Amino acid sequence: MTAPTPRPGILDIAPYVGGKSSSAGATRVIKLSSNEGALGPSPKAIEALQKSATRLHRYPDGGSDILRAKLAEKYDLEFDQIVCGAGSDELITLLIRAYAGPGDEVLYSQHGFLMYPIAAKGVGAVPVTAAETNMTASVDSILAAVTDKTKIVFVANPNNPTGTYITSAEVARLRDGLREDILLVVDAAYAEFMTGQEDYTAGAELVAKGDNTVMTRTFSKIYGLGGIRLGWCYAPPAIADVLQRLRNPFNVGLPSQEAGVAALEDDDFVNACVRHNSETREWFREEINKLSGLKAHPSYGNFVMVEFPMAEGKNADAANEFMMARGVIPRKIGAYGLPQMLRISIGTLEEMQICLQTIKDFIAN
Ligand SMILES: *Cc1c(COP(=O)(O)O)cnc(C)c1O
Repeated sequence: MTAPTPRPGILDIAPYVGGKSSSAGATRVIKLSSNEGALGPSPKAIEALQKSATRLHRYPDGGSDILRAKLAEKYDLEFDQIVCGAGSDELITLLIRAYAGPGDEVLYSQHGFLMYPIAAKGVGAVPVTAAETNMTASVDSILAAVTDKTKIVFVANPNNPTGTYITSAEVARLRDGLREDILLVVDAAYAEFMTGQEDYTAGAELVAKGDNTVMTRTFSKIYGLGGIRLGWCYAPPAIADVLQRLRNPFNVGLPSQEAGVAALEDDDFVNACVRHNSETREWFREEINKLSGLKAHPSYGNFVMVEFPMAEGKNADAANEFMMARGVIPRKIGAYGLPQMLRISIGTLEEMQICLQTIKDFIAN
């Protein structure tokens, strides 16, 4: 008997493994593995979601128009150039399906987000990485890695899991250095956490300027709405048109659209999240950096990479096991080429105090 065979590339995909949510034997679980909102979802979003419940027999508006209108107003963008998706993951996948095919190259930086190679392999394209400098995307090395086959370049800015960013001038230099037929995708999943960095922009102005740059955004991080799967992108008109043709007819659910609109109106909540994140992150980093042999890398997202010693018994794997046994769940990032690190999301202050104490106990053990 011959079984159906998937298309080339698909069996090369290592399935995406999300952050763990539970730990055997632990009674209290502190989940710091998926960069979720420390303060939960926006109360306004919860209210809107509940209000949508009696209308769940209705299909949503396929174009997510209420959400696009809200985004256009809030960020001063063109309505027609916004496309919504079931998480920005869906938009990343659609962009790759639209613009890359078998044998084409999808380029991203060394420690870039794992969805890029997963989605690339899904269409038979070849993921290519460019070396980073100091855990930061290097425009020069990305440009040097471009070939005739390069179709799309992805830059997560700030990047997950490294937490570093490149300046808007660097992103513009990258755009200028790429052939015009190469699509540049700026994945700004953590843009809202950037405060006070005047040399940073999420990338909308580059989209407005040309025909070949897309900015992707998400409700999963700052808005704490990962569970409803909601993301959006800002694209040149021709690319937005392509995505509208390719997406499923009702790709964003009705509760998601309505919760998204409410979340965008909740500035107090967003401000509280941003403040909580930067204060707690910097406190946590400082405390970790007091511990001998450990380094908490600088981060502009809602997470921190903690580097452990290489010594067996004290390395990141051992730390992960120790923490898990105590119900504190970090993220191993060996799949990102960073086996010496754990990525730890910023939770509540109490959660981070317990996390810190657990790491201290590990070191002393
Ligand atoms: C979390 C994340 C996303 C997207 O998540 P969705 O939940 O699919 O919107 C995209 N890019 C990066 C770099 C991320 O960390």
